[in-house]
Amino acid sequence: MSNLIQRFHATKFLTSANQLNQLPETDGHEVAFAGRSNAGKSSALNALTSQSTLARTSKTPGRTQLINYFEVDPKNYLVDLPGYGYAKVPERIRAHWQSVIQGYFETRKNLTGLVMMMDVRHPMTVLDEQMLRWCESQDLRVHILLTKADKLKRGPAKTSLFKVQEALKEFAMPATVQLFSATDHTIGLQEALKVLNEWLPCE
Ligand code: GDP
Repeated sequence: MSNLIQRFHATKFLTSANQLNQLPETDGHEVAFAGRSNAGKSSALNALTSQSTLARTSKTPGRTQLINYFEVDPKNYLVDLPGYGYAKVPERIRAHWQSVIQGYFETRKNLTGLVMMMDVRHPMTVLDEQMLRWCESQDLRVHILLTKADKLKRGPAKTSLFKVQEALKEFAMPATVQLFSATDHTIGLQEALKVLNEWLPCE
């Protein structure tokens, strides 16, 4: 097992929050995970921590979700934000999560970066762009995982990567992107772990 895999394998569930005032008081660093429902966020979190059940993969996309906090090691956290963009969510719940996620970005002083999951076959949706604009307004750095890259051949996967790289030039905050697969660990797992390891420095 590589040192990076070993480090993130130690991640454990800490707590859940339904509202901003329920977020834990943490010091240190936190990296948030966001993406459209079904983009592969839970699968990515499970792959990155080599744990099959850390983040539940969503059988029922859009059900009422929570902000889940995971502790990598003391003072380093991964934060799983509710997936966005599921059409059947009632407006009341959608508005609630929009305000919670926006409030989260505006108030969490320990937030050191956002990892965004986008399906490699349909990246940069309108809601993804809106999320990136929030990051830009907070000058929050972003790293994008183009998920399910195992579903495309090398050529089309590279084309998608290139298109997202080009689109990111329109944003002012630091932003990087890579191919990723939760099922084929030769596609992007180490690269993503390296970014997390840099963003969540060991004491
Ligand atoms: P979430 O709603 O963003 O948490 O998405 P999930 O992690 O639940 O994934 C949605 C669906 O995509 C599930 O059926 C997963 O098994 C599938 N999936 C997620 N990541 C990958 C991947 O890297 N490769 C493949 N082939 N399927 C994936």
